[in-house]
Amino acid sequence: MIEANGRKGGFLAALGAAALGKCPVCGQGRLFKSYLKIADACGVCGADFKAAETGDGPVVFVILIAGFAACVGLVISLLGLGWPVWLLLSVWPAFAVVLSLVLMPMLKGLMVASQLKHKVRDE
Ligand SMILES: [Zn+2]
Repeated sequence: MIEANGRKGGFLAALGAAALGKCPVCGQGRLFKSYLKIADACGVCGADFKAAETGDGPVVFVILIAGFAACVGLVISLLGLGWPVWLLLSVWPAFAVVLSLVLMPMLKGLMVASQLKHKVRDE
């Protein structure tokens, strides 16, 4: 099995590739076979992704990041801009949902790359 730390550019390049949905080993193949489903292996270099299992790990970070961003935006638009409540309740929950949907595959990719780097095995 090819490991994530064997990639040119080191671990940061592997994290960057994985955050964009690319194979953390070669940076070419696809990491996901659907929105959040990890592929069994890279179609380009053959890296094995079967051992990577992130569980609910990425969700915690998505909640923290999207929740914080939405709360800060809500407070600024309420106190600083004086938005009416109906507008606050229309914009910021939708913002949190969209940001969560964008962040979820990115953070899942980061966790998979980290697991490959540290040779995490589910046994
Ligand atoms: Zn690959």
